[in-house]
Amino acid sequence: MAGSVGGPRVLLRRLREVMAEPESAKRLDKITVLIASNMVAEVCSIYLMRPSRELELFATEGLKPSSVHRTRLKEGEGLIGDIALHARPLNLADAQAHPAFAYRPETGEEIYKSLMGVPILRFGRVVGVLAVQNRTKRSYTEEEVEALQTVAMVLAEVVASAGLIDLAELEEPDLRRERPYRLGGTSFAEGIALGHAVLHEPRVHVTTLIAEDADLEMKRLEMAVYELRGSIDDLLETADLSHAGEHREVLQTYRMFANDRGWLHRMTEAVRTGLTAEAAVERVQNDMRARMMRPTDPYLRERLHDFDDLANRLLRQLTGVGLSSASQDLPDDAIIIARNMGPAELLDYDKDRLRGLVLEEGAANAHVSIVARALGIPTVGRAEGILDHVDPGDAIIVDGDTGELYLRPSSDVIDAYSEKARFRARRQEQYKAIRHEPAVSLDGRLANLYVNAGLVVDLPHVHESGAEGIGLFRTELQFMIASKLPSLRDQVELYSAVLDAAGDMPVIFRTLDIGGDKVLPYMVAPAKEENPALGWRAIRIGLDRPALLCHQLRALLTAGAGRTLRLMFPMIAEVSEFVRARALVDKEMARLIKFGKPVPVEVQVGTMLEVPSLVWQFEALLPMVDFVSVGSNDLLQFLFAADRGNPRVATRYDFLSPAVLSFLKHVVEACERHNTPLTLCGEMAGRPLEAMALMGIGFRRVSMSAAAIGPVKMMIRSLDVDALARFIEPLLTSPVRSLREDLRNFAEINDIVF
Ligand code: PEP
Ligand code: MG
Repeated sequence: MAGSVGGPRVLLRRLREVMAEPESAKRLDKITVLIASNMVAEVCSIYLMRPSRELELFATEGLKPSSVHRTRLKEGEGLIGDIALHARPLNLADAQAHPAFAYRPETGEEIYKSLMGVPILRFGRVVGVLAVQNRTKRSYTEEEVEALQTVAMVLAEVVASAGLIDLAELEEPDLRRERPYRLGGTSFAEGIALGHAVLHEPRVHVTTLIAEDADLEMKRLEMAVYELRGSIDDLLETADLSHAGEHREVLQTYRMFANDRGWLHRMTEAVRTGLTAEAAVERVQNDMRARMMRPTDPYLRERLHDFDDLANRLLRQLTGVGLSSASQDLPDDAIIIARNMGPAELLDYDKDRLRGLVLEEGAANAHVSIVARALGIPTVGRAEGILDHVDPGDAIIVDGDTGELYLRPSSDVIDAYSEKARFRARRQEQYKAIRHEPAVSLDGRLANLYVNAGLVVDLPHVHESGAEGIGLFRTELQFMIASKLPSLRDQVELYSAVLDAAGDMPVIFRTLDIGGDKVLPYMVAPAKEENPALGWRAIRIGLDRPALLCHQLRALLTAGAGRTLRLMFPMIAEVSEFVRARALVDKEMARLIKFGKPVPVEVQVGTMLEVPSLVWQFEALLPMVDFVSVGSNDLLQFLFAADRGNPRVATRYDFLSPAVLSFLKHVVEACERHNTPLTLCGEMAGRPLEAMALMGIGFRRVSMSAAAIGPVKMMIRSLDVDALARFIEPLLTSPVRSLREDLRNFAEINDIVF
């Protein structure tokens, strides 16, 4: 390093000696002397961030000693404040000419012309500023800036290690406690959770910063990078399902970044300055984190995030810290925070300790969200920036109803939410009290409420909720959380367990609904589709690849032996598809009989109504089916040509629009004419106001998440269905966008609980 005595490695070695000395207040002073002499600077100063967000001069070599603990600069004030605010170095030959320069007479700094300062970062947060100054107008080299950053990183550890200064004030929890943080995301699963943050991928704390043997550290870094690349390649090849949250594309981006020259160069440079391999990774990661905290364009942020993830992986490789927190001791009110995850990863956690889930990315209809709903875990997704602001152990409130998050909430917010949680608990008690009561309206109309399920974890909820059976069993979930195609035996086992758990209650199994966003990573992915929601999915795959569907039908018929088996097909668009699918059922049935295997006493075969075209073939279809179940999630996306997975358009149309309600009413009337049992099993069935509208247009069977049964039953028991039907009828031809407000008013005026 030009202009320095012995270079950064010597400096780091000397620093380590100082750090090994018994702790004393003099340590910081010694460090400033060391840095100044090593860097041939007349001044070296250490400023530390006070809880008041002021930078206080804590130690100096060269400035007037009387200014120590007296000179304070606000974040953003003067050059030191500017470095802290922007979390980036400044390298100025003529510091006083800089517009941010603020003169502090007590320091006697007017004689120093040049300044080089770097932020002292810990976990990407600025905890102080380290600066050197010279009398001459000197330009510091890039290497010197690098070296000072490396020293600042070590200094961050010195600052954080107890005893050196009054850490009580600077400790991060205290600093942060003053800064509650509110973040808006999207509700993925309802409910309120108060608890403490657990990072799904634990942060690695690097303790050994200074290298004993630089060559060895270089080899360790190279080896870790090599292994990192290998592990990403393996993941891409095997597409291990435990990482189902990571799409192929993400992994491919990772692979590209793992080969990024700039990133690798910066880490090797950091090792060259005398850091251990893990400290070098963290040093580069710290800069990235600091950049992530600044408002940048979303694309860049995304890329920085990818590097951050990669750095975490590297750190884990170097330190041997585990990949997921699931195997670690959890607090008994754990709120898991992750960028994204697959359903299997969520199921790895101890359910009894899990209170909530927060995802920085994700989608409401992604399978981790469906599993979270099945487990009754309040979940907020698309919580952009949460990982930048949260630390393990932070208190956090997840409002799964509104999609809001409160980090380090103030006591007022905690009180308000505790009250809300108590209110919910009271409500739960009320729901429990009517669990065995029928869903009968004030005017005597009876409704049948069923639950949607898909996993073994759902089964206890069927009884607890007071539902009358399972209206939709999503069989694809078993396929999605497995690491390979479930065998016939696995499938028979699950379906039998479901039927056993349901006892006398009906269960409607839906055959595999894969494709679109439901990818089975162990199956060769088809060519990328322009419009996956309109693409090769559900029954289309089943009919084009009948072996897969037949295999499943065999399992269903075997599990249903001696009982009534109900099954339905997803995404049927025309009668001929139903006919072909139904023929496969008959074929499998005949095969089982031929081999003398036991078969169900009765098989009822129905269809989902998800594609609008089917309604125009109802006259032909209805006499052939045993029942119809409306999949309103898909039906409405097709009806409105609005992708349900695209947040920009997914909420563009209201489920309570006159178009939807008249369309559905037409379906109700056609099914009544044909005496065909009709259910609705999309998400709208579980929302009390929507469910009320469905009752008003004639639906009597609805299927929803277990948690929705209580609220919907309560609504029905406070409703006069005939009065509502009379109210809705004339509104169906209204030109307005939505009938939501009218329906809400009706509910309020009539004291309907919703
Ligand atoms: C639907 O589309 O409404 C439905 C119930 O199926 P899924 O949400 O699984 O696509
Ligand atoms: Mg669907």
